[in-house]
Amino acid sequence: MANTSYPASYYAASANPAPSRPALQDDVETDVCVIGAGYTGLSSALFLLEHGFKVTVLEAAKVGFGASGRNGGQIVNSYSRDIDVIERSVGPQQAQLLGNMAFEGGRIIRERVAKYQIQCDLKDGGVFAALTAKQMGHLESQKRLWERFGHTQLELLDQRRIREVVACEEYVGGMLDMSGGHIHPLNLALGEAAAVESLGGVIYEQSPAVRIERGASPVVHTPQGKVRAKFIIVAGNAYLGNLVPELAAKSMPCGTQVIATEPLGDELAHRLLPQDYCVEDCNYLLDYYRLTGDKRLIFGGGVVYGARDPANIEAIIRPKMLKAFPQLKDVKIDYAWTGNFLLTLSRLPQVGRLGDNIYYSQGCSGHGVTYTHLAGKVLAEALRGQAERFDAFADLPHYPFPGGQLLRTPFAAMGAWYYGLRDKLGV
Ligand SMILES: Cc1cc2nc3c(=O)[nH]c(=O)nc-3n(C[C@H](O)[C@H](O)[C@H](O)COP(=O)(O)OP(=O)(O)OC[C@H]3O[C@@H](n4cnc5c(N)ncnc54)[C@H](O)[C@@H]3O)c2cc1C
Repeated sequence: MANTSYPASYYAASANPAPSRPALQDDVETDVCVIGAGYTGLSSALFLLEHGFKVTVLEAAKVGFGASGRNGGQIVNSYSRDIDVIERSVGPQQAQLLGNMAFEGGRIIRERVAKYQIQCDLKDGGVFAALTAKQMGHLESQKRLWERFGHTQLELLDQRRIREVVACEEYVGGMLDMSGGHIHPLNLALGEAAAVESLGGVIYEQSPAVRIERGASPVVHTPQGKVRAKFIIVAGNAYLGNLVPELAAKSMPCGTQVIATEPLGDELAHRLLPQDYCVEDCNYLLDYYRLTGDKRLIFGGGVVYGARDPANIEAIIRPKMLKAFPQLKDVKIDYAWTGNFLLTLSRLPQVGRLGDNIYYSQGCSGHGVTYTHLAGKVLAEALRGQAERFDAFADLPHYPFPGGQLLRTPFAAMGAWYYGLRDKLGV
């Protein structure tokens, strides 16, 4: 049987107390059956409950077991693709709708945290760090682009200013987004699950959806029970497997790894990141890091195409951390873990409807903490009959990975190797 406990991460070790929820053992009826208790599923459930729907959530393992309970905790706005590239692909009208929504996810997280009093170490401020003049030029044009869509809170940082917010000698400049920030991701998911239950939603853990019986009144089967619903939301993302074969061909699970140092102490932590902002660099295969509430450095990076678990995560990630911060050479690593996100070829989310009543959102290809919260709202709007924003995502074109299920992993790895080499050469 698959392992359904949390990985041995810093997040699991510092999780707020949460109940163990029972597995589904019965036949139940509901308005909406949500498959997956990550941010996509929980955000959808919350918006629907707030609008009077009866909601049942099925989680194969535990709340936040997937990427939502393991990620870097960075609230990074917008999508994993630049909005001008999106505009060229879909035209100005659809791009306008998507561009308008690009910073909404961060606002939703803050509203959730405030409304439901979620304790998740929320901090404001995220930095995009440029390693080359070319990357800095890209940030400048990105700022102009985002301003075109009304997002005017971004500040460019020159070499002197970036040194004031991060003690890394490698950066030539950057951009600060005060509507970005960071959180303890598992505690956010656990808090959202408690909010779902406070509104009458029901969450079953250890309850994988193993089959969907489609039709006018679809039924989701688990090993010991079933849920009949008016609507289904599929929110299993990189952990979904082949439950919905139509979705699997156009996406690929990928792993990324994270380490957490021992607590650094206030003085060293302050020297590294004086404003406590989170940072991601501008490389294609990017590094991302931030401080935790107890002043550890959480550092992530790298991609494993096809989501195999690497044998020695510390050996992969620690050198990246030391490249950015050689001053941490004697610092101990207390935790190392891996998690899966879902990549699409366009790096844009795969959103849509199968038949009349099965909705899905997955595959945001990296920057998912904000997008998944937005997705919950957009899916809930669609179920309530307001589909304009849902359609803006659903109409994005998606293509199968070259090489099919068998060869997509080596092909994608080759592509990443090429971009990784360009990062190294600074071209
Ligand atoms: C290590 C790592 C670091 C990351 N860092 C960042 C970051 O700093 N910032 C950022 O913006 N993004 C980051 N991401 C991406 C982000 O975490 C994800 O995009 C986001 O959490 C996806 O949420 P989700 O709810 O769609 O999927 P998940 O959180 O993966 O949740 C899916 C859930 O569905 C369940 N499930 C699957 N199949 C079934 C089934 N058949 N029946 C029932 N349940 C099922 C799974 O058990 C899982 O709990 C990171 C991802 C990883 C892996």
